[in-house]
Amino acid sequence: MKFSVRDVTARGLEINQTVPKEGIGLSDEEIDLRSPITVKAKIERVANQILARTKVKADYGYTCARCLEDFHEEHEAEYHFNFELTPQTEYVDLGEEIRQEMIMANPSRILCKKDCQGICPGCGANLNLEKCKCKEN
Ligand SMILES: [Zn+2]
Ligand SMILES: [Zn+2]
Repeated sequence: MKFSVRDVTARGLEINQTVPKEGIGLSDEEIDLRSPITVKAKIERVANQILARTKVKADYGYTCARCLEDFHEEHEAEYHFNFELTPQTEYVDLGEEIRQEMIMANPSRILCKKDCQGICPGCGANLNLEKCKCKEN
């Protein structure tokens, strides 16, 4: 997701793109994404800096930490980036910055819902879906 510094005019540059995760170098091990990534960016040049305000939307896949069910949720996050320009800078790569932010923001522990009942350690029942069978045995 590179853009040319020359394309950032006085009015700025807007980017509206949907890319597969490979498009910004994300692998399945890094983040489980169930959709392409939609990026909306407003880019401005201020003195020798490029300021990029981005909104990044995707469908994220998770495994609930309590009941181990697979689920997915769409999230939109806003990331702001500053790029220092040198006289040699021709292109700025937004993709790599977005990749790092997405990895950092991705929670390592998440629940499918706030009141997830989890799994009974005795009978292994998913208590969101079924009753504990421990007493029957
Ligand atoms: Zn759960
Ligand atoms: Zn049980």
